[in-house]
Formats: sequence, structure tokens, C-alpha cells
Amino acid sequence: MTEAGESAGLVPADNGERGGTKAAGTRELAGLVAVVTGGSRGIGLAVSAELAGAGARVAVLALNGERAAAAAASLEGDGHVAHSCDVSDSTACRAAVREVEKSLGPVAVLVNNAGVTRDNLLLRMRDEEWSQVLSTNLGGAFNMIRAVTRGMMKRRDGSIVNISSVIGLIGNAGQANYAASKAGLHGLTRSVARELASRNVRCNAVAPGFIRTDMTAALGEAAAADLRRRIPLDRLGEPGDVAGVVRFLAGPEARYITGQVIAVDGGMTM
Ligand code: NAP
Repeated sequence: MTEAGESAGLVPADNGERGGTKAAGTRELAGLVAVVTGGSRGIGLAVSAELAGAGARVAVLALNGERAAAAAASLEGDGHVAHSCDVSDSTACRAAVREVEKSLGPVAVLVNNAGVTRDNLLLRMRDEEWSQVLSTNLGGAFNMIRAVTRGMMKRRDGSIVNISSVIGLIGNAGQANYAASKAGLHGLTRSVARELASRNVRCNAVAPGFIRTDMTAALGEAAAADLRRRIPLDRLGEPGDVAGVVRFLAGPEARYITGQVIAVDGGMTM
């Protein structure tokens, strides 16, 4: 694999026409730099661990710098870094990407995972609840994509994965802000995919169902049991269930996939 600064190497030498150039499960991201927003816990931490396991050097971004640093230190291999970065702040995103590129080299993989909920019924929803969720979940992904895109386009190589939600597909009472932000991510994903495809930069979304993390911990046992009844695979998901799909989309096995939204939801939305 090349040193950072040359091609990010996501495209195999034969351009994949023959297929089967690399077995899944190898260190297929060796030598590449990956940025994971919200990488300090939950799904983002599992994604960071999965990408590190595939050989990537990972930059863990989160609001809380100490948690991000602890997450980066826990990853397999050397060379991972952490930055405190509020993704809703475009200047902070640009600065974080500059820092990452200075210390690790060009960003080949971006995972937009940072997200928040501020649930409320429509008539009670406050302006801040609407804007905070939109500016973090959707604005944050836009800010980060804009910050890494110039380099990816120049190198004609890159993979962007946005973590959306099945709520962006089916909606949910009490989550108008969250559903709108995640549905917006689907539009952003397809537009970025169309705009950057000619430069070999791919952009896909993963839409998780209900995954056991801090975000869903408040659900309670009764609500969790009720949810299970709506999930054909009969269990809530684990962060690792999502992380494996992100690894696949980030890497060379997915070289001919762009603009897709893949639900990882135990069959809930089929
Ligand atoms: P989580 O456990 O609550 O973790 C959220 C992560 O996002 C944390 O690392 C947090 O950083 C970071 N974050 C929040 N606001 C941020 C900001 N403004 N700037 C930078 N980082 C920020 O969430 P999760 O359940 O793992 O969810 C991760 C993603 O998956 C979210 O986009 C969520 O919408 C989506 N998702 C989750 C589920 C689910 O069932 N859990 C289902 C569908 C989709 P700190 O540690 O510093 O606070």
C-alpha cells in the first residue's frame, strides 16, 4: 500500500473488472486515513474499531475531547488521533480536517456518524430543538464532506459513509426534527454521490434500526420488548452490526457502489 499522500488506493490495479481482487476480512484499509465523527462511543466507536481493525489510521472526532482521546487510545494498531470538534461548526470542521491531514496524511474515508436527538411532539417542539438536530445531524455531515472533498477529488479516490436512520425512511411521532435530518442525509448522500462520481469519490448511507447505545438506553425494557416485536430478526442491533457494513462500504469491495442507502435494521423496514 502507498504512503499517505499518494493515491488512497481504494481502487485495485485492475479497476475491479475481474472482481474478487481481494478477500473480505483482510486489512483492506491498510495505509489509509479514516475520519469518524462521533467516534468516541456507541456506533461511532464500533466503526472506529472496525476501521482500525482493517488497518486504517483513524481520527476520532467528538465533542468531548477526553472521550475521543480514550477511544483513539483503545483502537488496534498505532497512529490513531483524536480531536474535539463540534461538527455543527463549519470552521471547526475545516480546522480538524487540516490537523488530521497534517498529522496523518490525506483523508481517504469519512464516516459522518455524529448525531443527536431532541425529541418532542410537533406542537411543543422548540426552535432550538429543531435547529440543533438539523445543524448537527445534517449540517455536520455537509460541513465535514465539504472539508474533505477537495483533497479526495484531487486524488480521485475517496469513500464517504453517512450514518442516517430508518427513521429517515419511515418517520416517527415525536421525532420530526430527527426524521427530517436523516431523510435530508439521504438526499445529501445521493447528490454528493452524483456530483463526485466522475472523480471516483463514492458516497453511501447506512440507516440503522434500533441499536443498543447511550442514545437508546433511555427506552426502558417495556419499550425495547415492544420494539422487538417489530423486528423480524427478533433482537435489537448491536453497534458492531452497523460497523461491519460501514467497513464494507468504506473499502475496495464496495468500489462499484455509490448513492445507496443500506438499512441495517433486522428487517424492520423491508
Ligand atoms: P451516541 O451513543 O449518543 O453517541 C453520539 C456520538 O456523537 C458521540 O460520540 C458524541 O460525542 C457525538 N456527537 C454528538 N454531537 C456532536 C457534535 N455536535 N459534534 C461532534 N460529535 C458529536 O449515539 P449512537 O446511538 O452511537 O448513534 C450514532 C449515530 O447513529 C447517530 O447519527 C444516530 O442518529 C445514528 N443512529 C443511531 C441509532 C440507535 O439506535 N442508536 C439508530 C439509527 C441511527 P461526545 O461523546 O463527545 O458527546
